[in-house]
Amino acid sequence: MSPERIHIHAVRHEGRTVDILIEGNRIVHLGGPLPEAGLLISGKGKVAIPGFINLHNHAAMTLLRGCGDDMPLMQWLEKRIWPIEAHLTHDDVYWGAKLACIEMIKSGTTTFVDGYHHMPATANAVRETGMRAVLSCACFDHFDHSEAETVKARIARLHAETDLAGGRIAYAVAPHAIYTVSGATLQWINDYAAANNILIQLHLAETESEVDFSLKHFGCSPVRYLHSLGVLSPRLLIAHGLYVDDEELVLLADHGVSVSHNPASNMKLASGYAFRFVEMQRAGIRVGIGTDGCSSSNNLDMIEAMKLASLLGKSWRKDPEILSATDVFAAATSQGADILGLPTGRIAEGALADIVLVDVNQPAFTPNLNFTSNLVYAANGSCVDTVICNGRILMQNRTIEGEAEVMRRVSQCAERLMAFSK
Ligand SMILES: [Zn+2]
Repeated sequence: MSPERIHIHAVRHEGRTVDILIEGNRIVHLGGPLPEAGLLISGKGKVAIPGFINLHNHAAMTLLRGCGDDMPLMQWLEKRIWPIEAHLTHDDVYWGAKLACIEMIKSGTTTFVDGYHHMPATANAVRETGMRAVLSCACFDHFDHSEAETVKARIARLHAETDLAGGRIAYAVAPHAIYTVSGATLQWINDYAAANNILIQLHLAETESEVDFSLKHFGCSPVRYLHSLGVLSPRLLIAHGLYVDDEELVLLADHGVSVSHNPASNMKLASGYAFRFVEMQRAGIRVGIGTDGCSSSNNLDMIEAMKLASLLGKSWRKDPEILSATDVFAAATSQGADILGLPTGRIAEGALADIVLVDVNQPAFTPNLNFTSNLVYAANGSCVDTVICNGRILMQNRTIEGEAEVMRRVSQCAERLMAFSK
């Protein structure tokens, strides 16, 4: 449903009761009560928050949920994930991404950053479900010249072909990692992204073995290696960034690089835990939060990701005052939006109408002494009742049309794919 005007009446937002009016895809009024205007949504028993920004995802990996749990990263990739991914079809990715979109909408995410195979299939899922996304194809050249040429041609072709859904989709480039993509290709991608003003996302400094690889093959740590290639820039969003020393923090900050912290994936794959959230922020690096794909996180619930980010940050430092609920909520909303350069991630007049209504008539919000604390520490994605993205209602009363059919199709696709697991 896409009415021209949506009027959210008497909803709680940041401690006060307000009316919110949406016209087209923007919030045009936030404040005192309005006479009925447009499609009316009652805010009774609800709190309005901005939709979450999931900064690191591989949406169609919902297909591989529960496949290859409890393994180290490289073994997991080589034995489970890559052999199956070699047989993925456009259809598999479409259904997997569609399930991911449904799962994200149901847990309050309105924008996500994605890198995966068969990107046009993910774009179709985004267009149909009404979400906002930054999409890229996952690129590997395995240090092979002819593979590199194929990758470059694919990046340019997909860029030209992608229908940006009236601005809801942004095109980006996702070189996989420094151990699967050559320095020359990373430099080409950096030049391409600069010329086209698009984002680059890259897994970086994720594991100790990646650091060892970098030291062995490039003679320096991952961030220093990228610096030597000249590819650190404000267009670069790195995923993970667990192994970054003080000097590298300065390099990242000086070049305007942003970071996605993905606590569930890091803990489950035991990649590391000492993510330097606070040091990065103090150095001036923008840090947001992501889930990573469903085979390493195993869900796409940003409320869970916020809780894990906060608890992990506190526990490894033995400091309960670090990374408050408010800090991680900002990282999952406004900071994520700022990293993507999108006027969303906050409820304000003029902002994009990406709004989530949380149902607070449930145990996790009782008593509701501190809404943000309850949201981050007590609730999970099931508290989300209504989701609006780009001024369009994507879910109301937790109901999304076609959900059962999508789950049925994903189960079928997954059954076929599991035959290719080693
Ligand atoms: Zn990832």
